[in-house]
Amino acid sequence: MIDCHIHISLDGIDFKKARALSKIEEIEKIIRKRFKEYKKRGIYVLRDGGDDLEISCIAREIAKEEKIIFKSPVKAVYKKGMYGKFLGSPVRDLEDFKNLFDYLKSKRLDHLKIVLSGLVDFKEYTDCTKIFFNKKELKYMVEMSKYNGIPVMVHVNSSYGIDMAIECGVDTIEHGYFIKDREIYKMAEKNIIWIPTLSPLGNLGQGDNKFKDHCNVIDRVYKEHLHSVALAHEVGVKIAVGSDSGCYNVRHVQGTFDEMNHLIKSGIKEDDVINMAIENGIKACNLNSNEIEYLYMNRKIDNLLK
Ligand SMILES: [Zn+2]
Repeated sequence: MIDCHIHISLDGIDFKKARALSKIEEIEKIIRKRFKEYKKRGIYVLRDGGDDLEISCIAREIAKEEKIIFKSPVKAVYKKGMYGKFLGSPVRDLEDFKNLFDYLKSKRLDHLKIVLSGLVDFKEYTDCTKIFFNKKELKYMVEMSKYNGIPVMVHVNSSYGIDMAIECGVDTIEHGYFIKDREIYKMAEKNIIWIPTLSPLGNLGQGDNKFKDHCNVIDRVYKEHLHSVALAHEVGVKIAVGSDSGCYNVRHVQGTFDEMNHLIKSGIKEDDVINMAIENGIKACNLNSNEIEYLYMNRKIDNLLK
């Protein structure tokens, strides 16, 4: 199975504590243990959403030893002064982006992660979030990346931002909260993969003290999202499993199964969800035939050793 959206640098429990780990050995030990758990539960491919400390690059090296395929953006790209500080590097303009992109290439990014909008606001229901790059900027970044053969994942909520991402030709839309039917049909038409990450809100809805004052908003947004996911599946959007594990209340490994359960809750059959996790995951992670063969080989060996 494949989880297309995780944050290996975070633990899903204590943001500050996870970020305060300073010793490389300490980080390595935790990540190695996480990878072993992932494998034990049949998850062999992970795609990271980035972190500013480049821990995902360390993780990619450990993954090789643990025989996991791990895809890293090195760092996400976000607009200076806006949301995204812990995910990557800020850019003020396209000049900054060009420099950052050269750096990311030097570190062998597997995909470009762009933070196009903020998070869902839990305090008050609103169906839009601020969009941080204009269409010209986004198009430039997407085209530059594609020219270099690098797929693009975009973090975006709100219908306006999702439409912009589709128009600019991104490969995957991450989250996509507040999507409208129009964008769902457009995604299907343009063959864009959607990673709806239901778990961050879905898991909070199951009673969490920290956000108990906002449970009405969380519940409403989650239910709307479930609805959109059901429609997307019906009209043939390629949906992939991405849990956002590492973010609050989404634990590594368990998060992947939480996400699958949320997808089932939207009305998609369990078998279809499993197929999505594999087939659409392969596409979202841009796996080539050698990597797929490597996976089958490793799985076979693991099964023999069991
Ligand atoms: Zn994320």
